Amino acid sequence: MRALVYSDKLHLQTDFATPIAQPHQALIKISKAGICNTDLELTHGYMGFQGVLGHEFVGVVVQGDQHLLNKRVVGEINVAEGDCDMCRRGIPSQCRYRTTVGIFQHQGAFADYLALTTDNLFVVPDNVSDTEAVFVEPLAAACQILEAVHISPRDKVVVVGAGKLGLLCAQVLRLTGADVCVVVRREKPLKMLKKWGLRAVSRADLQDNQADIVVDCTGTAEGFADGLTLVKPRGTIVLKSTYTDIPSANLTKVVIDEVRVIGSRCGPFDAALRLLEAKLVDVNSMVDAHYPFNEAMQAFDKAFLPGALKVIIDF
Ligand SMILES: [Zn+2]
Repeated sequence: MRALVYSDKLHLQTDFATPIAQPHQALIKISKAGICNTDLELTHGYMGFQGVLGHEFVGVVVQGDQHLLNKRVVGEINVAEGDCDMCRRGIPSQCRYRTTVGIFQHQGAFADYLALTTDNLFVVPDNVSDTEAVFVEPLAAACQILEAVHISPRDKVVVVGAGKLGLLCAQVLRLTGADVCVVVRREKPLKMLKKWGLRAVSRADLQDNQADIVVDCTGTAEGFADGLTLVKPRGTIVLKSTYTDIPSANLTKVVIDEVRVIGSRCGPFDAALRLLEAKLVDVNSMVDAHYPFNEAMQAFDKAFLPGALKVIIDF
């Protein structure tokens, strides 16, 4: 089968062995997959991953449980072993022995086929398109903020970083009724936020120490520093992106102002599917380009361009 493989460099392979589904797995024929910033970081050596990249996907089950056969599915990317203390506490996403699709010790979705644990699969509702379904994984990650922080409709929430994840977070957070604004630097997200009726601001528009909650989607030291100056005493900063290096930060402010700093990663797929099914979130506007799989290398070049939004690979 065809597969986009990272081993010291990214390359398209046409003779990659097709995975064989184990008894607890389904074999999925991939229809579409999205390029995430994590994929870009992986090609710079993040996690030391070598193998088939890709973790935002939709496909059709061609082999596996009868109730899933021929169904369109998306897949939760953390594969838990099921028996460690975290699994037993009902937190499989933090399984101590987990593998992660296309990120850690598990083949990814930039390939014609993917074998994945049946328990990880969710059937896509008919009124959710393949393109929309590609966004389920990052949209679920945006929903995870609500799992970690209680957001009141009285809260002022600032999203820092108007990239792909930031735009999804802003759309999810506005559903709480809170006063949400997004710190924007580029023209493209600015237009999109206006279209959605969401408030876009520049950093200079915002006063320090006023936000109840800051969501940092930048993954940069600068973004975290902005979050620290924007958050009010006893406020919360939610970190949604991994950091490429270890940011230095004014932790004294965290102490004196009793700021809570919360990390947040993968989230509930069923919730993300409900939001898409009910058309409560617009992901279609966030697609920058579609590329056929044979042009996956060009798709990566496009995704690397500054300010690029979602690049989708069509199989
Ligand atoms: Zn476990």
